[in-house]
Amino acid sequence: MSFEELDEPHPLAACPVCGQPLQVAQRQVHCPQRHSFDRAREGFVNLLRPGKARKAVIGDDAEMVASRRRFLDRGHYDVLTQGLARLVEDLDADQAVEGLLDVGCGEGTFTAAMVDALPQDRPTMAFDISRPAVKLTARRVPSALSAVASVIDMPVQDHSVALLSSIMAPLHEAEFSRVIRPGGRILVVSPGDTHLAQLRQVLYPHYRPHDELVALADALPVVEQRRFTSQVHLASAQELHEVWGMTPYRWNTPLDGQQRLAQLTELDVDVHFVATVFAVPH
Ligand SMILES: [Zn+2]
Repeated sequence: MSFEELDEPHPLAACPVCGQPLQVAQRQVHCPQRHSFDRAREGFVNLLRPGKARKAVIGDDAEMVASRRRFLDRGHYDVLTQGLARLVEDLDADQAVEGLLDVGCGEGTFTAAMVDALPQDRPTMAFDISRPAVKLTARRVPSALSAVASVIDMPVQDHSVALLSSIMAPLHEAEFSRVIRPGGRILVVSPGDTHLAQLRQVLYPHYRPHDELVALADALPVVEQRRFTSQVHLASAQELHEVWGMTPYRWNTPLDGQQRLAQLTELDVDVHFVATVFAVPH
């Protein structure tokens, strides 16, 4: 059952203008104050606050998003996709996840894994600042409400979210605290210390391990932590270029690092993610 069939407000989504609950209809979403937002053909909606919305290109561009999707479709991060599905199933068994919000959903592969791990009637919403990314998410996860939105100004109702996920995405703890329910869970996936170590050794003259996320600023208790690790074989110059292009490394790789990368035709790399679940007090 999708919320567009219901004549009632979406349990999570809020109007970016006035903050009231949004009602989701076939072609648009609107609030009781009649602020309305058209849904794109793929079903997603632009909920960037008007005025902030029309800047040229923000977030990952279409090429970066497409390269990320191709990379993920090769299965290189299946250890994370499958690990997330198991983790969300376990969290739901422990305490029903009545409302999942995926913050910084990217192209939606991880969103899909989490949504598919939940019973179908659970309200879900996913957003990202990148319109090309949200377009792919809307196609892959049609049961979720997908939106273009910013993590610093989330179009989400106060204290409505049972499980907030941030998978390799920016953290904005003040907004997380505003939208999470009492007793809710915040799931953060960040790179482990050895994540893509061999690639970074190629790119940077002075390799050092990733700093791992240890805590959120408000010192919420950790109720679960899982590591997902594997080793993947990047089998062509194209795959190497793809993985580089979908990481933040693309912004700060020195020229000699880019040249070393361009000379490689294959590389075995460690994949290492840390999933940490924080409990929000009742
Ligand atoms: Zn409104």
